[in-house]
Amino acid sequence: MGRKRATGEKEKKRKKVTVKLLERKHAGKITEAYRIMDDLIDKHHNHLADAKIAIAWRFGWNQDADGRLRLGQAKKGSDLDRELHHFDFVILLNHEAWNKGGLKQEQKLALVDHELCHCEVSMDVDGEPKVDEEGRTVYRVRKHDIEEFLDVVNRHGCYTNELAKLAQSGINDSDRPLLPKDDGDDPEEGAEAAADTLETDILRLSNEGKSRRAIAEEMGVTQHQVRKVLADA
Ligand SMILES: [Zn+2]
Repeated sequence: MGRKRATGEKEKKRKKVTVKLLERKHAGKITEAYRIMDDLIDKHHNHLADAKIAIAWRFGWNQDADGRLRLGQAKKGSDLDRELHHFDFVILLNHEAWNKGGLKQEQKLALVDHELCHCEVSMDVDGEPKVDEEGRTVYRVRKHDIEEFLDVVNRHGCYTNELAKLAQSGINDSDRPLLPKDDGDDPEEGAEAAADTLETDILRLSNEGKSRRAIAEEMGVTQHQVRKVLADA
């Protein structure tokens, strides 16, 4: 930045720090991300009630070549990590997206829920939780249920049971806040509507003369995503 010291000597450029542990409490109150995580563990991830999970900000995550921005990551503590700081998992959250990127409350919940879904207890052959020699629960990182290309689904539809289940659960979930309700009873039509909503809204806002930046803010997406939708239209 070229900031000068009192002596007039030019300050040396320092290496950027990309990770900073988030304090559980700030000014006596539990911080937002921990509050969200505690609630979700209570409601949906009981098996993590005794897990020690740290949350850390991740700074400077950039979009990948496909224009996607990573919002979070769950990392399992190795034996060495656990010796050093006793955490079973660390959840990294994209600092810029969380604090300045217009992530809605519902999206923050979904993001933390997603990362908690990666945090799983390892089971032995009898279906009992695995324990290590120190008596600590053994954890693992669970993989996504579905990894798929949008292009393939667009061309061939929900060709596996998992995809069909995902599409159906999206249609059934009437109080999902991020997409408008589908009032029709034709599930195929509903699935199409759900997939198209974001693009349709972006096009509509663009036709209303809104800037890319304004659209990105309103829709809670990146400007790059907006540009991509407009370019594909
Ligand atoms: Zn994930």
